[in-house]
Amino acid sequence: MKISSHRLLDANGTAYPFVQSPHGGDPLRPRWLVMHYTADGGNTAVDWFKNPASKASAHLVISRQGKITQMMPFDRVAWHAGESEWKGVSRLNRHSIGIEMVNYGDLFRHPTRGWMRYWKINGAYKWLDPVVPESELMLDGQRQVNGQRLAHAWQRYTDGQVAAAFDAARAIVAAYRLEDVLGHEEISPGRKTDPGPAFGIAKFRERVMRREPAPRFIITTTLNIHAGPALTHPTVAGSPLPLNTEVEELEDQGGWKRVAVRGPGGITGWVPNTFLKAAGVPAGHNG
Ligand SMILES: [Zn+2]
Repeated sequence: MKISSHRLLDANGTAYPFVQSPHGGDPLRPRWLVMHYTADGGNTAVDWFKNPASKASAHLVISRQGKITQMMPFDRVAWHAGESEWKGVSRLNRHSIGIEMVNYGDLFRHPTRGWMRYWKINGAYKWLDPVVPESELMLDGQRQVNGQRLAHAWQRYTDGQVAAAFDAARAIVAAYRLEDVLGHEEISPGRKTDPGPAFGIAKFRERVMRREPAPRFIITTTLNIHAGPALTHPTVAGSPLPLNTEVEELEDQGGWKRVAVRGPGGITGWVPNTFLKAAGVPAGHNG
């Protein structure tokens, strides 16, 4: 997968289905990726994030079958994190990209009917349909809830879902040079439990963040750096770049590359491939 014009594309360069959510849309410069479950396993998440009643959205929704739907461009705020904090930054919607995976989350065993969600709604506990087969669950002992001791479990994620989430996360982290991959439970502790123990955010983070070094290039002339992949786009602050500036590739599109200048300042923008030559392998790097 890769990113172009803030849309997610598959390996063939085809954009995933896009269904715009009305919730969000302010400009976003993401620093983190936040993983979620929908708490509804019924593949209705895309409809829900279009529904005005939800007041929620995410950049991507990944179905139980591993099907990806994008609902907000990656440079626009989506409403997925709510009250949240990480590294002294609060309200993470303004600083993060959100991926929702369809999953019922945590479930309890009803005395006669089987595994269901048992939610406190307006002060009263309610059992919510449907019954989820035990074969889909990761059992998790018993919990005291509403004066009863009930068997507790988490719905597992499907292999297709985890694979899609991993590929999307790798592409997003690389394209936006994100600092880390977080679970909603980590940025809203005590309030949120997603993506939960069936997902395992720590291991996922480790795999996603273990990136190959980005390809590096040297600029072969004094070179204007543009806001988009054509000369018609305005130049960005810090343009032109001096001869021999070293840059990292973030994205490649139509004879242009989106690059980042290494070091403080952090200029990013588009330059034509014609004026780039490959930099050597960094000293001390053993592949
Ligand atoms: Zn969440």
